[in-house]
Amino acid sequence: MSKKSQIKAIRGMNDILPIETPLWLAVERVCSDVFAKHNYKQIRTPLLESTHLFARSIGADTDIVSKEMYTFDDRNGDSLTLRPEGTASTVRAGIENGLFYNQQQRIWYTGPMFRHERPQKGRYRQFHQIGVECYGWSSPDIEAEVLSMLDQVFQTLGLQDTELQLNSLGDSDTRSSYRAALVDYLSDHKQSLDEDSQRRLSTNPLRILDSKNADVQLVLEGAPSILDYLSDESSESFSTLRGYLDDLGIGYTINPKLVRGLDYYNDTVFEWVNAGYGAQATVCGGGRYDSMVEQLGGQATPGFGFGMGLERLVQILQEQGADIADRAAQDAADVFIISTGSKARSQALQLQASLVAVDVRVQCHMGEGSIKNQFKKADKSGAAIALIIGDDESAAQTVSVKVLRRTAEPIAQQSVLQNEASKLVTNLLESL
Ligand code: ATP
Ligand code: MG
Repeated sequence: MSKKSQIKAIRGMNDILPIETPLWLAVERVCSDVFAKHNYKQIRTPLLESTHLFARSIGADTDIVSKEMYTFDDRNGDSLTLRPEGTASTVRAGIENGLFYNQQQRIWYTGPMFRHERPQKGRYRQFHQIGVECYGWSSPDIEAEVLSMLDQVFQTLGLQDTELQLNSLGDSDTRSSYRAALVDYLSDHKQSLDEDSQRRLSTNPLRILDSKNADVQLVLEGAPSILDYLSDESSESFSTLRGYLDDLGIGYTINPKLVRGLDYYNDTVFEWVNAGYGAQATVCGGGRYDSMVEQLGGQATPGFGFGMGLERLVQILQEQGADIADRAAQDAADVFIISTGSKARSQALQLQASLVAVDVRVQCHMGEGSIKNQFKKADKSGAAIALIIGDDESAAQTVSVKVLRRTAEPIAQQSVLQNEASKLVTNLLESL
């Protein structure tokens, strides 16, 4: 007989196991708490979108659209794509549902994103982001609010060695005159550029600033800075933002080479970087995108937001030994119910439901097993209290209550009516 071959997860798509989820839950809870306290509302959009959406918003020359998307035809022959990021879907949903019509919006989202990249540390094919998007403000105050929220999230999580990098890409006039100056400069050094950068010289020259190649970086040291090309308006807005951050006590460095991977940004862009983490050091990136809503068919509406990679954030926190995993998700049950026979089991299940209703965490023994055996399991489970429903208790509709946790004064086993057990148990739990 042939052995059945084992089915494995798809390369680059990870299971997040029960032992890992307490940390994930803590990160998600801290983010959603901080966002909610700033009055941001969550949006949930489909994982699948029409392929045009991403081509039109992210830009055809970007890495994402040119080589990373999971695109396929569905049964009707429509081209669909698993979302590679969250902004395009949020804008699509906003236009479709009139969210930008005479309104300003503070929105956040979370969920899986899909990119066909080479899997490595901090880079996967299914990964998770939490992101924020704000619509209807062109002023830098909203940018400061968003950066302040991130700062609060990182402080609450105890994230260390993280650095905020800031840049301004100016308006479209700035970018086109800067692009010309950059191409001018780099053309004179073409022989020192790698193949990738040479190709980008004609397709997407600003992305060359992002190059990790050491020779290219050397050439870039003498390149013109985009900050010298900003209009007065962009310059002033950028300086106002920096003033807000100074007043908030949020540190940052200006990085004129920060351009971000997506085509849609203007003016402020930023990344939060954790240098100790290796090549995939950017935890979070974002910026202003004032033309996207119009680009996708809505009325002109300024946008500002970020996407944060949860795998990277969780791994860094793990490596730093952060002590923030949600206790609730890690702890043992408070109570373990021991019972034998289907009548007693039925009573155990009812008891479990009534205890859960008053916020007690209960694990019920399931299946066969002698009382003695179940006691061993109760002890091992870490529960503070065992409730026993044997034949006698079952007949009398009572339950024996035994404290398993060591106490200064031993607490004797006692018996109560089942419908009075939750009061006794909650009192006992409070006193332990
Ligand atoms: P990178 O330069 O690392 O490829 P990016 O510019 O493509 O990042 P964004 O599109 O701005 O990244 O996404 C925001 C964040 O999402 C990143 O900073 C990172 O934390 C996370 N992220 C992006 N791609 C991946 C991936 N393939 N696996 C895990 N996390 C990712
Ligand atoms: Mg990328």
